[in-house]
Formats: sequence, structure tokens, C-alpha cells
Amino acid sequence: MIEGYNVEVRLLAITALSPSETPLDRETNLPPSELLIEYAGRLCWGTTDKLGTSTGRIQSWLAMGHESVIEHASATFYIRASRVLTHELVRHRLASYSQRSQRYVRESKPRYVTPPELARDQRGGEIFEKAMLDAWDAYMQLLNLGVRPEIARYVLPNACETEIVMSMNFRELRHFIKLRTSKRSLPEMRAVAGEMKRIMKEQAPRVFGDL
Ligand SMILES: Cc1cc2nc3c(=O)[nH]c(=O)nc-3n(C[C@H](O)[C@H](O)[C@H](O)COP(=O)(O)OP(=O)(O)OC[C@H]3O[C@@H](n4cnc5c(N)ncnc54)[C@H](O)[C@@H]3O)c2cc1C
Repeated sequence: MIEGYNVEVRLLAITALSPSETPLDRETNLPPSELLIEYAGRLCWGTTDKLGTSTGRIQSWLAMGHESVIEHASATFYIRASRVLTHELVRHRLASYSQRSQRYVRESKPRYVTPPELARDQRGGEIFEKAMLDAWDAYMQLLNLGVRPEIARYVLPNACETEIVMSMNFRELRHFIKLRTSKRSLPEMRAVAGEMKRIMKEQAPRVFGDL
């Protein structure tokens, strides 16, 4: 449960500098993804031999607008949320996505995200729950008539729960987090982007610490 939403966000993978390139002779304190970014940035100035010797490098490159260096690292997330959310999510073009298919997977059980605004309101909650059950009832009836899942799914709601794997490089991830944690963003999206922000601040504090 994130901010009242029954959604899930997990970090599946994050880029790291190869251990064969990582200096073993000094304490770097840098996470492996930040070591890669620092390597790329130092290469521009011919100072890769100083890798890990000063902790403020990445922030100073970001401050001067030398942002392409953070594109070398990416993170991959598992997200379980509504199709309302993923419809907005995939508008972010500089990313890669793999989403649970409603053509090949039957949505046999009602699985949907209930906005807390509706869960809190008794009458609104009742109307919403009935709409969900009616939609799934219609879906199952169509399947039982022999209609293919890819056609029967037209009756399923926006609230239908889905799963998606998304990969973004750190530059796009910063842009995404800034945009999608703002108060203007969809509350469910804010919840998901907020969790991604929390994770990335832990994983790469020099890249995401200012957000
Ligand atoms: C509060 C809010 C309300 C919104 N309302 C609507 C709405 O009513 N209707 C609607 O259709 N969308 C809406 N959107 C979606 C919005 O318009 C963007 O499509 C979405 O946020 C993706 O962001 P982005 O364009 O920065 O794309 P990303 O794909 O994340 O791209 C990142 C950056 O790369 C650059 N870039 C990428 N592609 C191009 C390109 N082709 N040309 C030039 N530069 C490029 C831009 O600098 C861009 O900011 C809304 C978004 C928000 C946050």
C-alpha cells in the first residue's frame, strides 16, 4: 500500500560499473551506478585515474548542465498499478516497457485499483465496486460465449490492475520524478513516482539527492 493506493513498486535492476574497472585500492563510498557515471564524466577530462577520490564530482557536473553523463546508468522497475496509471506512464518516450497483455492473459478474476478517495466515501465506494463487478461479469460472459480475450477486454475498466516493467536512464528518471511527483500529477502516479524517488535517493544519492 503506497499513500492509500494498493500499488507496488520494486527496483529490479540498476546499472553498475564493472568490478574489473572498479578501483580496489581505495574506499570510494560511491554506489556502483555512480562509479560508472563518474568514470564517464572523468573520461572527458582524462582523469579516470582519480575515480572515487572526490565525492562532489557528479553534483558539480549536474549543476553546470553536463547532464549527459548520467544517461549511462539506468534503473529497471516492476510496477503494479492501474491501467489509468500505465496509460500516462508510457507517454514518457525515453524509456522501455513490457506490460502484462490483455490479449494473451485472461483477466479471470476482478483485479482493480480503488482510489482512496472512493474507498473513503461510502456511497461513491458502493457505486465504484458495483461498476467493477458488473464489468467483470460482462467480461466473463463474453469469454463464456467464446469471444477472444482481446475482444472481451473492451468492457474492462481503466481501473483494471496491470503489471509493467519499465527501464529508464537516470536523466529521464530525474525528469520523470520531477514531473510526476508534482501536485498537478495524478494521485496514483504521485504515489508510484514518490516511491521511485525514495528508492533512487537511496541507490544514487548524488544523482537524486536534490529532488
Ligand atoms: C500534470 C500533467 C498533465 C498532463 N495532461 C495531459 C493532457 O491533458 N493530455 C495529454 O495528451 N498529455 C498530458 N500530459 C502528458 C504530457 O504532455 C507528456 O506527454 C508526458 O508528461 C511525457 O513527458 P515529456 O513530454 O517530458 O516526455 P518524455 O518522453 O519523458 O521526454 C523527456 C524529454 O525529452 C524531450 N523530448 C522527447 N521527445 C521529444 C520530441 N519529440 N521533441 C522534442 N523534445 C522531445 C523533451 O525535453 C522531454 O521533456 C500531462 C502531463 C502532466 C504531468
